[in-house]
This record gives sequence, structure tokens and C-alpha cells, in this order.
Amino acid sequence: MAGRSCVFLMYHEIELPGRPLCQSAPGYVRYILPLETFRSQMAWMKNSGWRGLNVGEALRYPAEPSVCITFDDGCETDLIAAAPVLREFGFDATFYLTAGFLGTPGYLNASQVRDLDAQGFQIGCHSMTHPYLSDLPDPELKREVVDAKLQIEKIIGHPIEHFSCPGGRYDQRTLQMARQAGFATVSNSQFHANSPGISRYELGRVAVLRDLTIAEFSDICRGRGLWKKRLQYQARRSVQRALGNSAYDHLRAVLLGDPRQ
Ligand SMILES: [Zn+2]
Repeated sequence: MAGRSCVFLMYHEIELPGRPLCQSAPGYVRYILPLETFRSQMAWMKNSGWRGLNVGEALRYPAEPSVCITFDDGCETDLIAAAPVLREFGFDATFYLTAGFLGTPGYLNASQVRDLDAQGFQIGCHSMTHPYLSDLPDPELKREVVDAKLQIEKIIGHPIEHFSCPGGRYDQRTLQMARQAGFATVSNSQFHANSPGISRYELGRVAVLRDLTIAEFSDICRGRGLWKKRLQYQARRSVQRALGNSAYDHLRAVLLGDPRQ
């Protein structure tokens, strides 16, 4: 069983024809897949004998080819676009919800969250208001991690165990707070496959970007070439650290041509 590992995929909103996205900035849209693109990825997995797992299942590191499927932010398309496709192919997934976004335009409302939960998908938490957690003083961090967990649990009526960090940002305090709150895992956005030796509080995930080809998608599922993405990510993170998160976001928006900047 040596060498068992599993790639965790990170998805966001799904684009449906004629339906406005939650945000329109280029830095947001590059993470958004049209429904047909998402469906063709799931079809590729099914046809190639891959299974799609939620976080809890993936951490058992089954021997057969599998990827973990995760969604961040709690967009309404989790239920109306992604879930039907996942059910069609018999895949599970974990949906990390931003508690404070629930019920606002474009995001799931409480009854839709219960529907997703009742369909058997795993519900996780993606903070209360989607800030960079490493920037926050302790009382605010507590609200983002502990209060957000309680709020989602109140909606679905049972405990949740999995947390993902907004923007992939976290520090040791974040992980400590998540552990104290009762989360069993924390996922970030670092480009590496996970394996039994990796801390359950520092699970890497690979963002599935809008312009990815099926060949590139299959490479990601197999964990091929992630070192290249990791190097790019590390280079980006060192610029972020040098500039600070807000200056970096401004620079990134300018480079990506965000007209609002
Ligand atoms: Zn997010």
C-alpha cells in the first residue's frame, strides 16, 4: 500500500447559461467552470474508472483510483448544477459553505443546504465572512471558525468536521482554533496530493481552473506535474508575504485586468 495518495480537487461556482455569477472580476471567473466543462471532467473520471469521494472517504485512502471533490463558498450552483451531475455519475463531494453568505443572492439558502445534506453530500465550513484568516485578531478568528461551524450545524442539525481556508490563507493560530472548535480536518489550497503521512490539518487541494483541458485535468487527478504548480504557488506566496495580502490583491487585480480596480 506504500505510495497511496489522493488529489483533492477544489471547485467553486458553476456557470449556467443565462445565470449571473456571484462575482464578475477576472480573478474570480478564472475559478468558475461552465457546467459542460465540469460535466465532461466527471464523465472522464467515470469512463476512466476513477471514483469521486468526499473528504471523509478520501482520508481512508482507498487503493482504487480516486480523487476527492470539494467545492468552496456555498454558491447556489452547488445544489442546482454540481449535485445533479455528481449524482448522475455516482460521486460524492464535500461542500464547504461560507456561513455568512447563506441566503444572500447567488448563494445557498438554509433549506437548500438541508437539501444538499439530505442528498448525502458532506457539508463543511469555509468561515463566516470569507476573510484571510491569518490577518485576523483572535476574537474575529473565533467568529470565523467557531461561530461559523455552529451556525451551519444549526441549519443541518448535526455536527460538521471539515473546514477549508478562504483564499488558502492560514497560520498556526487558525489550525489551533479549528482543532479546538472540533474540526477534524482543515484544507488549504497548496498544490500537493495528500497521503496518510500528511497532517489532517494541512490538506492540500488543487484548484480546477476554467481553462483547463481534459488532458491537464487527467494529469491533475494522477498527481502529475503538481510540483510545477507548487513552484508557481510558492513564488506567488513569497510576493504576497512581501507585499501583504491587501497590496497583493490590488496588484493581482490590476494584472488580471479587473476593471473595478
Ligand atoms: Zn472561497
